[in-house]
Amino acid sequence: MSQLATLAEHGEERTAEVGEKLFEVGDASYPFIAIYEGEVAVTDSAGQEIVRHGASGFLGEMNLLSGQTVFLTAVVTEPMRYIAVDREALRRLLFEDGSLSDLLLSAFIERREALQQRQGIGIEILGSHESSETRRLLEFARRQRLPHSWVSPEENAEAAALLEHLGPDEIPLVRLPGGAELRGPSNGQLSRALGIGLELEQREEVDLVVLGGGPAGLGAAVYGASEGLDTLVIESTVLGGQAGTSRRIENYLGFPAGISGSELTSRAVSQARKFGARTATPYRARALEPGAERHLVKLDEGNEIAARAVLLSTGAEYRRLPVDGLDDYEGISVFYAAGPPEAHLCGAQRVGVIGGGNSAAQAAVWLARGGALVTLLHRRADLSETMSQYLIDEIDRYGVVVRDRSEVSALHGDDGRLEAVTLTDGTQLPFSFLFLFLGASPCTDWLGDVVARDPKGFVLTGSEAGAHGLLETSVPGIYAAGDVRAGSIKRCATAVGEGATVVRFVHEHLSPADASVG
Ligand SMILES: Cc1cc2nc3c(=O)[nH]c(=O)nc-3n(C[C@H](O)[C@H](O)[C@H](O)COP(=O)(O)OP(=O)(O)OC[C@H]3O[C@@H](n4cnc5c(N)ncnc54)[C@H](O)[C@@H]3O)c2cc1C
Repeated sequence: MSQLATLAEHGEERTAEVGEKLFEVGDASYPFIAIYEGEVAVTDSAGQEIVRHGASGFLGEMNLLSGQTVFLTAVVTEPMRYIAVDREALRRLLFEDGSLSDLLLSAFIERREALQQRQGIGIEILGSHESSETRRLLEFARRQRLPHSWVSPEENAEAAALLEHLGPDEIPLVRLPGGAELRGPSNGQLSRALGIGLELEQREEVDLVVLGGGPAGLGAAVYGASEGLDTLVIESTVLGGQAGTSRRIENYLGFPAGISGSELTSRAVSQARKFGARTATPYRARALEPGAERHLVKLDEGNEIAARAVLLSTGAEYRRLPVDGLDDYEGISVFYAAGPPEAHLCGAQRVGVIGGGNSAAQAAVWLARGGALVTLLHRRADLSETMSQYLIDEIDRYGVVVRDRSEVSALHGDDGRLEAVTLTDGTQLPFSFLFLFLGASPCTDWLGDVVARDPKGFVLTGSEAGAHGLLETSVPGIYAAGDVRAGSIKRCATAVGEGATVVRFVHEHLSPADASVG
């Protein structure tokens, strides 16, 4: 009841009659609605009912924070008295009221996850799965967590008839909530049409621009915005980075049962937005020009961001195995790092470690010492071509079996649990877990020689870059955090920690006298 009173202070009391629509598919926005009396049915665009809310319930979903076009309709089924709180007022309230914020944010996230499971909600993507542009947009919608349906012309005669008259660059055809259509849109055009995130001005001026919206970037956004910095996050694909693609992160502090990458990301994005950080996707940084007062970041759509401080958090791309269904296993039985939890998980299990470098060797030894039966597979004829001799000796000492000239061509298992792998020569090996150490390349090509980088392209920071601050690059006011940084640990928690730490250095850079007091 006290929460209704708080909402009433920030909103407006309204009434509605049976049959009235509180909001409708295709509307640009809607208020948060908390119900005193009455009942409302929420339906999809075809009028199919999804849920009813009555007294003490509330209407609202992730798009209240993201500003995305409305993709559901709410029709009053019993006369209503309710409080309507507009988006901006709700955002302020979430910032001030911790328990209300917990309640609403977790409900919004749960509702979005549930909506994504339903067909017929959100956008419709019409195109053949054989079209790479259709697959690109489906992948984008999936990673953006956009409620969407895919309509294949192979299975739907109406879609086939519609697509027949379109040219190759007009496919896929996308139907938006409310009926508008886009032909062959880019990821950016679709986002803008849905009102997702920001449409950036041609030139923006901010305190801190964060390039890359993975854990490091989002960590910086939460701390930067909550500590009063005008913070803008630029993300080229989907907020969440590598972590967002992980089925389950088992070692993130505070989640003893593990948390899916998508949930961790949703929570982090809501938190950043709650504090007022702006997130712009999909926009790609393509050039950085250092300046005395402000550094200039140029984006691929021609926009420019003039920022007093810049965080490079563009991460690295882990090389993945080119096998079907890999993502079903990732985070459950296929991993990219081996630490204490993995060693514990793999005790007395058959484990494959793939890679011929020192990191693969260290993981193999670590897992074998934890009691796993480890086989190390690599492509070359002899490990000594790529691995240090002392590690080859260690591998031998701990009983790791080495298979030279071995490449995995298929994974077998059920529900994310690996049972076996097939090699290109047809051999099948019974593995319960697989660890991939195929290397990672940093997303830094676009930087040129603006900041100092190591021979592999990772950004140097601190004393290695001749900088004062631990995470500062060779250019004052430009920082690096997370996987993109040379020598980083390549874990979610360390990326978040580094992003948060950078904010402290940014304060020192922007107002040296103030920051030294705290
Ligand atoms: C499948 C998988 C599972 C994992 N599981 C775990 C785990 O269980 N526990 C754990 O601790 N770690 C795990 N990791 C590692 C962890 O995800 C990474 O260490 C972490 O995501 C690094 O965060 P980051 O922000 O530095 O970079 P990233 O997460 O890589 O994010 C960088 C972001 O920058 C964007 N970007 C790149 N270039 C540009 C540009 N030019 N302009 C704008 N944006 C750009 C990218 O699109 C990306 O979203 C896993 C990694 C993978 C791949």
